[in-house]
Amino acid sequence: MNRSDFLYLGTDKETIDVVILYPSIDNVSYVKMHATNSREFPYVRCEEDNCELCNEGSYALTKMWIPVYNIKEDRIQFWDRSSKFMHIALENIFNKYPDPSRYVFRITRHGVKGDLHTFYGLEPIAKNDIPYEDIAIRFSNYFV
Ligand SMILES: [Zn+2]
Repeated sequence: MNRSDFLYLGTDKETIDVVILYPSIDNVSYVKMHATNSREFPYVRCEEDNCELCNEGSYALTKMWIPVYNIKEDRIQFWDRSSKFMHIALENIFNKYPDPSRYVFRITRHGVKGDLHTFYGLEPIAKNDIPYEDIAIRFSNYFV
C-alpha cells in the first residue's frame, strides 16, 4: 500500500462520492499502527505482543481504515480515520442505513488544510446498484 491507496480530501468543501464497503456494522475493524516519518507510507503495522516499536516505547494508534469504492476513480481506497470516527459519525450512519454499501455517500470536507477542527460530512446521494460482493471480488487483493 502507498499514499494513493488512501482517500484524500485536501481542501475546504471538497467532495468525493464513494460506496462504503461495510455491508454491516459487523464488518467494521480496527488496525493498530505506529506513525513513521516515511514519505512513502506513514504507518507501520503494530505487531502487538512481539512489537519492536512498542518495546521501544512508541505509542500504537488505533485506526479505522474504512474501505471505500471511489466512484470517479473506479478503485478501492481506504479512508484513514481515528477509532473515534465510529462514535463521531459511523454509528449514526449504521443506525439509519444498516447496510451502507447499498448507497452512494458524498463525503464533504469542512475545514481548510491544517485546521485541527476539520470534520467530514457524510450524506447519501443515491442508491448503489452494484452488489457489495461484486465490488469486493473485483478488488479481492485488498480483502486478505
Ligand atoms: Zn506496536
